[in-house]
Amino acid sequence: MTLKTHFETGIGLALLISGIGGPTINAMDISDVSKIGILAAILIGVTAGSVYPDIDLDESNLNSEDVILNWESNFDHRGIVHTLINVIGVSLPFLLMAWIVNRVTTFDTTWIAVLGLSMSVGCLKHMLEDTFTPKGILWLYPFSMNRFRIPLIRNYATERIFRILVTGSLLYGAIYYWSTNPY
Ligand SMILES: [Zn+2]
Repeated sequence: MTLKTHFETGIGLALLISGIGGPTINAMDISDVSKIGILAAILIGVTAGSVYPDIDLDESNLNSEDVILNWESNFDHRGIVHTLINVIGVSLPFLLMAWIVNRVTTFDTTWIAVLGLSMSVGCLKHMLEDTFTPKGILWLYPFSMNRFRIPLIRNYATERIFRILVTGSLLYGAIYYWSTNPY
């Protein structure tokens, strides 16, 4: 699956999650920096977590002209960053840092922990999406070499439909929750 799809659905999920679980910020009073930090951590964390598993790509796959020809061949190596261990592991350094800084200083480190957990959520979404491609995902590597896959997305055309439907649904939900937030 292409970075474009992971990125766009990532933004959709980030907005939805921050709309459901994010802190409500009064636009007239932005003095509560910790709330802004947590909101930013969700938005950045989920979006970054959605795209970073494919950072080792050889060439940009944001160019849709190339993608149509090379769909799934020149990118998406799907190594250790596409495993359940990585989903858990990516947040551990953040949780550890939040805990240590919290022990030795008086800083509010909630946003650091939220950033790490949001990255895990984004990464999990990335892998769910890749599961729908023929290559599938080695979810349980190294414990199992089973390639889990539900190969519904077989070319760039179906991926495009997937991207529009999923991003659209996520944004629809996001708008609902953001607009019903009590301010
Ligand atoms: Zn991937």
